[in-house]
Amino acid sequence: MTLRADLQAIADVREDEPMARHTTFGVGGPADFFVVAASQEELRRASLAARQADTPVFILGSGSNILVGDGGIRGLVLENGASAIGDPQVGAGSTTITVDSGVPFASFTRNVARRGLHGLEWAAGIPGTLGGAAVYNAGAYGGCLADALHSVTLLHPDGGEEVVTAADLGLGYRSSEFTRGLLSDRVVLDLTFALTAGDADLALARIDELETKRKASAPRGRNAGSTFKNPEDHPVWWLIDQVGLRGHRVGDAMVSEKHTNYFLNVGEARATEVAELIALAQRRVREQFGIELEAEVAFVGEGFA
Ligand SMILES: Cc1cc2nc3c(=O)[nH]c(=O)nc-3n(C[C@H](O)[C@H](O)[C@H](O)COP(=O)(O)OP(=O)(O)OC[C@H]3O[C@@H](n4cnc5c(N)ncnc54)[C@H](O)[C@@H]3O)c2cc1C
Repeated sequence: MTLRADLQAIADVREDEPMARHTTFGVGGPADFFVVAASQEELRRASLAARQADTPVFILGSGSNILVGDGGIRGLVLENGASAIGDPQVGAGSTTITVDSGVPFASFTRNVARRGLHGLEWAAGIPGTLGGAAVYNAGAYGGCLADALHSVTLLHPDGGEEVVTAADLGLGYRSSEFTRGLLSDRVVLDLTFALTAGDADLALARIDELETKRKASAPRGRNAGSTFKNPEDHPVWWLIDQVGLRGHRVGDAMVSEKHTNYFLNVGEARATEVAELIALAQRRVREQFGIELEAEVAFVGEGFA
């Protein structure tokens, strides 16, 4: 059987699927094969089928932290739609709950708050799946995933599975063993959180408050959130403003007027234009301040110079 036939036995296969349709930037060339896995089982089977055919696999969450090249992605892009949420288990001191990695972080945050479980309110409104959040140790408003994550189940390329504690994921500021390349061939299947029992109304009120704050500060339009990590001494938005790039455009890629660490696709931006704008900001900040800006957004696929 061909890989296409193997995959089609699991879920619908699309060929040459434009990644611009699957990233919040609205940028990116075609994926050779594109499959949406609706469950952990489909994630397992599709990634194993591709590995057995010696075909690279890229696990896609919500595409909210990636810039996909105009040449697209070779091999299989497997979008993670696994969405099961387990029952909370009350233990001594904390309540644990296990959830599939394809569940959107923001909706899970509300889900546990409604059950009166505290510990994830800071994540109100963060786009993306929980799998993507584990890779980047997503964080906001003084909190990050590492504060509440107990463990994850990882799928190995050979089909084996392993439960890894949060401590062993090396979670740091928007980084982990995944971003350091040590676990990049693993798939996060599910995550177990340790949360604290409390008052549901209080947790929901805090989420509403932070969502309102987020809406007021975030620019509208197609983007991937913060383009760069904040260096130690100055906020990155200030550095980019100081080097004169507020509102600057390269083609249809533009530095937001409202928040200069957000880069926007204001039309039909190509990945090369976004990448050029990123390189320009890095060069100007290096020349003026001697600071090396590190991209938070990940470059994926082909077509970058
Ligand atoms: C408007 C906006 C606001 C944002 N605000 C914040 C914020 O406040 N804080 C913050 O931390 N981030 C923020 N982000 C960035 C982004 O939302 C997070 O990084 C998010 O966690 C990425 O999740 P995702 O599912 O979209 O991952 P994707 O972008 O789809 O993938 C990112 C990487 O993770 C890998 N990956 C995804 N799922 C899995 C899995 N199950 N197993 C293995 N690897 C996987 C992918 O292969 C890829 O390498 C923002 C983004 C936007 C667009």
